[in-house]
Amino acid sequence: MMLAALSGWTTLGVGGPADEMVFPETVDDAAAVVRRCAASGLPWRALGKGSNLLVDDAGVRGVVINTQRLRDISVAPDGRVRAGAGVATSVLMRRTMDGGLGGLECLVGYPATVGGAARMNAGGRWGETGARIEDVVAIDAAGEIVTVSAADCAFGYRHSALGRMLVVEVGFRLPQVDVAAYRLRISEIHREKAAAQPLKEPSAGCVFRNPVGASAGRLIDQAGLKGRAVGGAMVSNVHGNFIVNRGGAAATDVLRLIDTMREAVLRSSGIELRTEVEIWRRG
Ligand SMILES: Cc1cc2nc3c(=O)[nH]c(=O)nc-3n(C[C@H](O)[C@H](O)[C@H](O)COP(=O)(O)OP(=O)(O)OC[C@H]3O[C@@H](n4cnc5c(N)ncnc54)[C@H](O)[C@@H]3O)c2cc1C
Repeated sequence: MMLAALSGWTTLGVGGPADEMVFPETVDDAAAVVRRCAASGLPWRALGKGSNLLVDDAGVRGVVINTQRLRDISVAPDGRVRAGAGVATSVLMRRTMDGGLGGLECLVGYPATVGGAARMNAGGRWGETGARIEDVVAIDAAGEIVTVSAADCAFGYRHSALGRMLVVEVGFRLPQVDVAAYRLRISEIHREKAAAQPLKEPSAGCVFRNPVGASAGRLIDQAGLKGRAVGGAMVSNVHGNFIVNRGGAAATDVLRLIDTMREAVLRSSGIELRTEVEIWRRG
């Protein structure tokens, strides 16, 4: 299927088209897409909610595999949960809470799919997704369906070994909780995040990874960059590590702003920031 701009598929709202976007409905469908790409030498990329992505204005070559139709979910009373890669983490939280399960504080306050959260080992102060994962079912580069244990996922800071695979299903093991107390805790975390981050404006979350022992947001703030804008892209006034799209931003605006931030922080602190947001380029 030929596609309109990827800007409509990302939370930052920038980026050009993909040559093709597909929506596999089953694990076998997904494996067939990867095999077709492998056989024809076409590059492919996985797309969840697009909440950690900056897509170039020229778009991307090859096939974007949108996981949104992989949305089966099962919740067992013993705390074992299986969820398709395209299940929204908000749905995962609601369904597991209905089953008396908790342990997903790490997923509060941002849109994501189960596959994207596993791949990125999403989280922060309140824990990380990988800590709740038992295994991941994925399609490898040759199009084979493989099961990867949590240990082999090698979860680290916003990192996993799943980068070259398509995650199709994730197995979680979650603790039984007092649901009323858990619900309260989730709302408190949400309130705390909403006060500190521009959750209502289009963004891709934190632009830069935190350097060891430092906060990227604080370094950007100290470099005097809050409110700095290039075209439609602006460093949030609420949190220095967020770039918001204040309307009509192009990817080039965001990329130029990222360079400005990196250079200013290097000048003021001697620290070289590395991006957390994933940049998709056509080349
Ligand atoms: C307001 C806001 C706040 C945020 N706060 C946080 C936070 O506190 N902590 C945090 O960790 N992140 C945060 N993020 C970033 C983002 O939400 C997470 O990284 C999230 O896990 C991305 O999930 P996604 O489904 O949107 O993945 P996408 O953005 O679609 O993809 C991200 C990467 O994962 C890959 N990917 C996606 N799905 C799959 C799959 N099925 N198989 C293999 N690879 C896949 C993509 O190819 C891409 O490389 C925030 C974002 C926003 C907008």
